[in-house]
This record gives sequence, C-alpha cells and structure tokens, in this order.
Amino acid sequence: MHDQNEDIISYFKKLDRSFFMETHKEFAHMDEPIPIGYEQTISQPSLVLSMTLALHLQPEAKVLEIGTGSGFQTALLAAFSDAVYTIERIEPLYDRAKERLGKAGFANIHFKLDDGSIGWTEHAPYDRIMVTAAAGEIPSELIDQLAFDGKMIIPVGTSFLQELLLIEKEDDGKIHTKVLDDVRFVPLKGKYE
Ligand code: SAM
Repeated sequence: MHDQNEDIISYFKKLDRSFFMETHKEFAHMDEPIPIGYEQTISQPSLVLSMTLALHLQPEAKVLEIGTGSGFQTALLAAFSDAVYTIERIEPLYDRAKERLGKAGFANIHFKLDDGSIGWTEHAPYDRIMVTAAAGEIPSELIDQLAFDGKMIIPVGTSFLQELLLIEKEDDGKIHTKVLDDVRFVPLKGKYE
C-alpha cells in the first residue's frame, strides 16, 4: 500500500522554512519555534510534521486551520488535502502568509482575517481541524464543525504548558480524545483563552 506519510515527510524536508520568515532567517534550520513578530512564532519544524502526520490527511479532505501564522503549516496541509480554510487574527501576518502562499502557487487555500476560536461555520463541516495556538478548553464550536469520522489536533491547557490532543469524532458522533504530547504554544485568543 502507498504510504502517504513518506510523501509528507519527503515534501516537508524540501520545504524551505526561511521562505516563511521575514527576519531571523539564519535560524530557519533550527528545530525551534522562532519569533515572527507580534509576539507570535513560526512553529518548531518537528512539531509541525508530527501534528500533520497525526491528522492523517486525505487527498479529498477539507481542512480548517486556526492560526495561519507564517503559513508554514498551512503549506503542508494544503499540499496533502483538497482545500484548506485558514484563519489568522493578526492582519500583517494574514497579509504576508496570503501573499507568500499565493507566490508558492497554492490555489486551494482560503484565507480569513478573524477570531478563529469559534471556527468558520460557513464552510463546515471539516474533515480535519488543526489548531496551532493554545486553548484553555476545547472549543465546542470546533467539535460541532468537525465532520463525522473527522480528526482535530489542538493544544489545550494553561498558557505555560498544554497537552496536544487528538480528538476524533466517530461516524455516530461519539468523541474520543487522546493525549499525544506536552507542548507549549502561544495562546488562542478569544472565547477560549
Ligand atoms: N503554525 C504556524 C507557523 O508555523 O507559522 C504558527 C502559528 S502561531 C504558533 C499561532 C498563530 O495563531 C499566531 O499567528 C496567532 O496570531 C494565531 N491566533 C491566535 N489566536 C487566534 C484566533 N483566535 N484566531 C485566529 N488566529 C489566532
């Protein structure tokens, strides 16, 4: 059977992280989160990869991403799914990510400048949801917007430490939650801060 993980890993290895950065490009090769301004960071590469693999993307999947940031994670999601709906609340980050991903040739990414903590109802349900900022609790709106047989990755906890959760919705609507890791993300602003 064809192993999609291998394709994702090989695409990821070729993805130039410095393309997604305006400053500190000399640190792009480091496996660390790096500041991108506005108190935000481009995520740690190994975490971007492991979160993407844990989502089990499908070529026909519709994906919601909360926290576009630099667009680094968005690129990986868009390369292995049908469409990505991504929301960022900080305008300069939104503008730059949109321009960058357009330049990179992605035509399947839909951008929104807004508070994404309550999702994007207009295009729901989503087969996959990736949240790249830390919530104090699981946003019920995102559970509602997750499709049956859908999967969501979200860091949940305090502002200092969170558990990275994999949330799965079965085809009868039952929810299963699994802890994947301990992580530290910037806060998800809004209702679930
Ligand atoms: N994965 C991204 C990357 O590698 O560039 C990094 C994302 S960064 C850790 C988290 C992002 O979530 C920030 O850009 C922040 O502005 C955004 N964010 C935080 N709360 C948000 C909200 N309520 N709605 C939309 N974006 C939000």
